[in-house]
Amino acid sequence: MAIRDNLNEVRASLAEGVTLVAVSKYHPIEALKEAYEAGQRVFGESHVQELVAKHEALPDDIQWHFIGHLQTNKVKYIAPFVSLVHSVDSLKLLKEIDKQAVKCSRVIDCLLQLHIAQEETKFGFDPEDIDTFMQSEELHALKGVKIVGLMAMASNTDDDEQVENEFAQVKDIFDSIKERYYVNAPWFCQLSMGMSGDYPLAMKHGSTLVRVGSKIFGERVYT
Ligand SMILES: *Cc1c(COP(=O)(O)O)cnc(C)c1O
Repeated sequence: MAIRDNLNEVRASLAEGVTLVAVSKYHPIEALKEAYEAGQRVFGESHVQELVAKHEALPDDIQWHFIGHLQTNKVKYIAPFVSLVHSVDSLKLLKEIDKQAVKCSRVIDCLLQLHIAQEETKFGFDPEDIDTFMQSEELHALKGVKIVGLMAMASNTDDDEQVENEFAQVKDIFDSIKERYYVNAPWFCQLSMGMSGDYPLAMKHGSTLVRVGSKIFGERVYT
């Protein structure tokens, strides 16, 4: 029952008000079942096909979060059931989520992903572009999506000070967007940051959703 023990250890380390997203990508259904039986109900996946298969195989009371780069042509497969998309990185993608949500008579909660890490390969809005995005009229016309906060990944480095600086920067951007655009919008309250290696630092800087994979399920085997 290693998964149960790992889960309990992570849960015990969570700050008040922080939701644990168990990142189960690349792990088999059995591993998710074990976490489910230990009470976990929020799971994060980063590939559409894998998410669809796991959604079909597992109980209905799971909240499925999509955390990876989402291609517009695949939104339709997850729109009927996904409960939160963490990784919205363009207006084009948001418009497609909106379109598919309307088709299923849903409003899908979304986070805007900020690009903050040093790595070139990570997706997301540059901090300097987020204001322009927030002001676009097209954004406010969308009825099938609700922006409930921001998501970011820190650099993959052992330098804790740098990681903390990045989380602090994201928190500042979150606060300023909240103040400027969502001051009367209580739903804009989620800040998704922190993974197995850095979630304690993320919680110090106001994270409300931590995305923890390997610390619960062990190392992923990429096949
Ligand atoms: C895989 C992944 C995680 C989990 O990473 P761990 O280091 O295994 O905790 C978190 N967030 C995103 C966006 C991921 O792709």
